Amino acid sequence: MKIIDGKIVAAKIREELKIRIDHLKQENHSIPGLAVILVGDDPASQTYVANKEKACLEVGMNSKLIRLPAFTPEEDLISDIEQLNADPTIDGILVQLPLPPHINEQKIIETITPDKDVDGIHPVNAGRLLQGISSFVACTPAGVMELLKFYNIETRGKHVVVVGRSNIVGKPMSVLLAQKKEHANAVVTLCHTAASDLSYYTRQADILVAAIGKPGIITASMVKDGAVVIDVGINRVEDHSKASGFRLKGDVAFEEVSAKSSWITPVPGGVGPMTIAMLLKNTYQSFLNRNNII
Ligand code: NDP
Repeated sequence: MKIIDGKIVAAKIREELKIRIDHLKQENHSIPGLAVILVGDDPASQTYVANKEKACLEVGMNSKLIRLPAFTPEEDLISDIEQLNADPTIDGILVQLPLPPHINEQKIIETITPDKDVDGIHPVNAGRLLQGISSFVACTPAGVMELLKFYNIETRGKHVVVVGRSNIVGKPMSVLLAQKKEHANAVVTLCHTAASDLSYYTRQADILVAAIGKPGIITASMVKDGAVVIDVGINRVEDHSKASGFRLKGDVAFEEVSAKSSWITPVPGGVGPMTIAMLLKNTYQSFLNRNNII
């Protein structure tokens, strides 16, 4: 079993970005800027947002964090996004999900101008991805593709089983892997809760991607010998030995599955760091697009 180390790959992407941004600064050029909006005080969202801001500053990008109270009216959030859409110093806009229940999430996503939608969730970008046209790709599945490429894991003709069909992970993941392109071209099965026997599908996977949100649900008996296992899940499980009272666990029962797999991503340290690295990469790309830099 070999570990797919997202920390190493993400650090490499961040280093490359830092060099490019340092270069822009030396030339007194403007630099990329990312705006992140957090509504409410969900603890996991607060951690994600803090990590995104830190990563931005580390590579030398501008970061603008807008914290809004949970009771913020939908129209106020829309007006903030519209201001960011028009702000020339902002290249990427990310609204941390989930939003409080009184806010229509879809309406908010569609308010972000597609050319600053560095999270790749606007229907225009999702549609462009579906048609194989260059677009901002949702950061987590884009990060998984980078990992497979970095570790030279063959995808062409392989049977990939993706479990989970969210708009942000499972669906774009399956589309990316099925593209008739280098480092993709896989035969893809997309599973969800209507699969009456999930293991029937997962046992056939050469590459298994778990994006479910249930700790340890993928066990050894569900995985083929020698499979590549990508664990997207980030679940907080109670752990009183930790100061925080919890630890992070993936959707895959790591100990038992790693004994059977050829490659596997750990949690934490697998897909997670890649999500933020891809967010930075998308923001940099948006900056290039918007400044007509090729
Ligand atoms: P969602 O809750 O939006 O989607 C979960 C998907 O899993 C749904 O499609 C659901 O099916 C499916 N599912 C749930 N239970 C089962 C089951 N028993 N059998 C088969 N399918 C099942 O989650 P997300 O896609 O947003 O996130 C998935 C996981 O990835 C979470 O743990 C999340 O924290 C993590 N995540 C990690 C990121 C990272 O950076 N590593 C980034 C984003 C998410 P159905 O559609 O039928 O309900």
